[in-house]
Amino acid sequence: MTERIFNFSAGPAVLPMSVLEEAQRDLISLPGVGMSVLEISHRSKTFEDIIEAAEADIRKLYNISDNYHLLFLQGGASLQFSMVPLNLLEKGGQADYIITGAWSKAALKEAKKVGQTNVVATTEAENFRRIPKQSEFNLNSEACYVHYTSNNTIFGTQWQSEPEVGSVPLICDASSDVLSRPLDIDKYGLIYAGAQKNMGPAGVTMVIIRKDLVKEPSPELATMLAYKTHTETKSLYNTPPVFSIYIVRLVAKWLLGLGGLEVMEKMNQEKGHLLYDAIDSTEFYKGHAEKDSRSLMNVTFRLPNEDLEKKFVKEATASGLDGLKGHRSVGGLRASIYNAFPKEGVEALVSFMKEFERKNG
Ligand SMILES: *Cc1c(COP(=O)(O)O)cnc(C)c1O
Repeated sequence: MTERIFNFSAGPAVLPMSVLEEAQRDLISLPGVGMSVLEISHRSKTFEDIIEAAEADIRKLYNISDNYHLLFLQGGASLQFSMVPLNLLEKGGQADYIITGAWSKAALKEAKKVGQTNVVATTEAENFRRIPKQSEFNLNSEACYVHYTSNNTIFGTQWQSEPEVGSVPLICDASSDVLSRPLDIDKYGLIYAGAQKNMGPAGVTMVIIRKDLVKEPSPELATMLAYKTHTETKSLYNTPPVFSIYIVRLVAKWLLGLGGLEVMEKMNQEKGHLLYDAIDSTEFYKGHAEKDSRSLMNVTFRLPNEDLEKKFVKEATASGLDGLKGHRSVGGLRASIYNAFPKEGVEALVSFMKEFERKNG
């Protein structure tokens, strides 16, 4: 058994041990199949069962109704930055964007290439340390959709509940908090998430789209970029990322085995509180996010100066706490503690923090 360290990486990120073990066990030969999942046809009954089980389990976890398609696509969340406007931003129409971080800005950049956009709220002037309040939104009732980012991976902020947008379809980039808590899917027009933060390995992107939003694509739209192509072929228009979908399927099964998303949310709250309490209990550490905007997935914090931050990262890494260096746009430290990140790892970080402050504070 090779020793594992605590992996605080923001993504690709830690996966459940039981998932890795099952994948390892079945890598040479899937039970009853005699071939590895890496070698089977995406048109085989074996893979059909895998992709159907992945969809069925995620539908169960989120309680998704028949009004929605669930797709497994490629191109990452970044391709959704383009696919959303290419499919949903009608000619002559406009789209509303709420800007809460670098990924929202990246989404907006792609939409601007397609049509008219409005920034209906932004907290950039405050280096994205908070989620804007409903009273700050300048929504357009005519908009084709409102786009927001539920968890801001880089800045460590998270929406505590959805923005209210009336009857305009709500579009969410949930890449870094997908499956971390229950959601009322009926509030959404479309949700997308790259798998590699909280749901599986890199290579697959989940899209949940309300059926009435899947329109006849304009003839000039590339086939692969039309949602309709993928809803009509159940994500099998071309060869899908078979292995990534297989792992997502195992992760979904793991979540159901834990008791579902209410249980997962409780576990995430416990881990988050442990770490935020450690930050709040001293002046030595300072959280980047405002308290009411804090993320349970990515915890961002600073030390009194950059030299100490460098020293912290170096010594933490040497003690088996990996991936804690913050993104350059925030600086300091970032502990990503996604679903699969164990509570023992948070406890280990908290004791490391106490010890580090004792020696350097
Ligand atoms: C990581 C991330 C992305 C980019 O995802 P890719 O799959 O690499 O395109 C987009 N949005 C959010 C919120 C992210 O955390």
